[in-house]
Amino acid sequence: MLNVVIFGAPGSGKGTQSELIIKEFGLDHISTGEVLRNEIRNGTGLGKIADEYISKGLLLPDELIIHVLTGVLDEKRGTKGVVFDGFPRTIPQAKALKKILNERGTDVAVMLNLDVEEDELVRRLLERGRLSGRQDDNPDTIKSRLEVYHNQTAPLIGFYREEGTYHAIRGTGTIDEIFGLIKKKLESLTTDC
Ligand code: ADP
Repeated sequence: MLNVVIFGAPGSGKGTQSELIIKEFGLDHISTGEVLRNEIRNGTGLGKIADEYISKGLLLPDELIIHVLTGVLDEKRGTKGVVFDGFPRTIPQAKALKKILNERGTDVAVMLNLDVEEDELVRRLLERGRLSGRQDDNPDTIKSRLEVYHNQTAPLIGFYREEGTYHAIRGTGTIDEIFGLIKKKLESLTTDC
């Protein structure tokens, strides 16, 4: 299986690039943010809990999101591979993902870190808030999400460096330019094996 963790700060383009990757390589996409937004739209119990955290720019508790992720992953049996978008976001989540995949006889093949500077992130998120009306794309929530990213999520860079699967991608330029860099990396992995 070709399992890809697409990583980066809020606004780094994870969702956009994930869509291109799954089309090109025939993979499945799991966006925990999308899963949660769906639950909120459907007014489920999980959606109500998720809304409390998302509207404040906070992460859901690890145990809960790991449970959600495991359920979604089990629906994708027989897949060629999964693009994990927005998961893991903490060290316990990364350890859990490794365990879950190992139990299924596979692992993360590569972690792609979309590198974008902070001014650009804020500009993109505000723009997305204007266009899509995504509730958490407002100035206060953006600020907390970036803080959470630096404190809780950025340490994953060290985790995946140690795993030997870390790969940085320049996340600025056109969507096609960025995808070109990703494609090159993923092709090098698929021809290796
Ligand atoms: P972005 O990367 O643009 O912030 P996402 O759509 O990935 O957006 O996530 C939106 C929100 O959903 C996060 O701010 C967080 O509250 C919640 N969330 C998504 N994935 C996770 C996760 N792996 N762990 C905890 N909370 C999560």
